Amino acid sequence: MKRIFEDTSIAFKLKSDSELERAYFLFKLISNQPLVKIGTAVTNFAINAHLPVEGLIRATVFDHFCGGVNEADCMPIIDKMYEEGVAAILDYSVEGKHVENQLDSALQKVLGVLDFVKEKQAIPFAVFKPSAFGRFELFEKVNSKKGLSVSEAEEWQRVVNRYDKVCKKAYDLDVALLIDAEESWIQDAADDLAYDMMCKYNKRKVVVFNTAQLYRWDRMSYLEEVCSKARNEGFKVGIKVVRGAYMEKENGRAEDAGQKSPICATKGATDNNFDAAVTFMLDNLDVFSIFSGTHNESSSYQLMEQMKQKGITNDNDHIWFGQLYGMSDHISYNLAKAGYNVAKYLPYGPVRDVMPYLIRRAEENTSVAGQTSRELELLKKEKARRKL
Ligand SMILES: Cc1cc2nc3c(=O)[nH]c(=O)nc-3n(C[C@H](O)[C@H](O)[C@H](O)COP(=O)(O)OP(=O)(O)OC[C@H]3O[C@@H](n4cnc5c(N)ncnc54)[C@H](O)[C@@H]3O)c2cc1C
Repeated sequence: MKRIFEDTSIAFKLKSDSELERAYFLFKLISNQPLVKIGTAVTNFAINAHLPVEGLIRATVFDHFCGGVNEADCMPIIDKMYEEGVAAILDYSVEGKHVENQLDSALQKVLGVLDFVKEKQAIPFAVFKPSAFGRFELFEKVNSKKGLSVSEAEEWQRVVNRYDKVCKKAYDLDVALLIDAEESWIQDAADDLAYDMMCKYNKRKVVVFNTAQLYRWDRMSYLEEVCSKARNEGFKVGIKVVRGAYMEKENGRAEDAGQKSPICATKGATDNNFDAAVTFMLDNLDVFSIFSGTHNESSSYQLMEQMKQKGITNDNDHIWFGQLYGMSDHISYNLAKAGYNVAKYLPYGPVRDVMPYLIRRAEENTSVAGQTSRELELLKKEKARRKL
């Protein structure tokens, strides 16, 4: 497979010289682990103490990783991305809300996004997180299969109703809907809900996509099971495959409980698991639609190579590649140039509310050292190319 990701002129075409400098400065900063730790603590303190730091956050991490505060803010970015063939997924990245009216307003937000994106080719998906529609502790209780009290059962029914409302609207408007994956101790409950929605709304084609985190060693059996159920019951399965974002938390929790971790023992095992999942879904493309959410070059090349071997066209509408805004533009834009379907998550929301998302991005880029140095190497290469 031709190494198409090396072309930095395509990767950074949308970045002005000053944006390129800012990105370089930012990745340099977050590659420094102690600095990220201190920066995170200071920022959290400043936000909680209502110190005026929002301007500073906006000018640095926020503008690099987010599209703006609301949907309209994001539109100029979305239009520019789409001119280069890269679609966007508006991701309202406000987390950690748990009171009923907050859960209802999260539902209204996603319903509003569905209205906003309908018939906009540049935004072919909407997305939500399970815990945006239900209290985390309630998900945990349902997951543990412990009995619910009467009021908890009513509360759970409201979660089910929120799922149904949003999936039905996505179906009616013909917009694909991604459901993110979270911690393993709520994920069975979330998977069961996603399963019910796929049974109901994916009869003809995939509207609802669940997410499988392949850093979990049990996810291949999940995919095999959902595939055979789909064949028996006559529906299609949409899966966003990712490696998974909560590794430290998962390992720490299992260790504290003296249990085996749900996470693969090594990075190599996760990588093999991810690639095996993609192969399995490609082999069953009559059932699956695949959204490969990764910044990993080797996994992306592998999927491209297998598509070629199987004679699947680059723009087959069952296969999407996805990255996060602000990361791995060399993959996104070069894939789009080669005619593949590509979409980037474009997070947005009030600055203080998207902080947990931003902190995860900073930590991820710090802990996965290989990724940061790759971003820096490419930014450096492009800076040098422009000087010439
Ligand atoms: C479009 C998109 C959507 C996403 N949606 C979700 C989501 O819904 N839920 C979610 O949890 N994450 C989600 N993520 C984040 C994703 O799970 C990863 O955290 C992130 O993309 C880094 O993995 P990578 O595939 O890019 O590759 P790499 O950078 O090659 O891999 C890093 C990942 O490998 C795994 N890993 C690292 N070290 C080890 C080790 N020692 N042992 C075992 N495994 C290891 C971890 O998962 C780590 O994040 C999404 C990512 C994208 C791009």
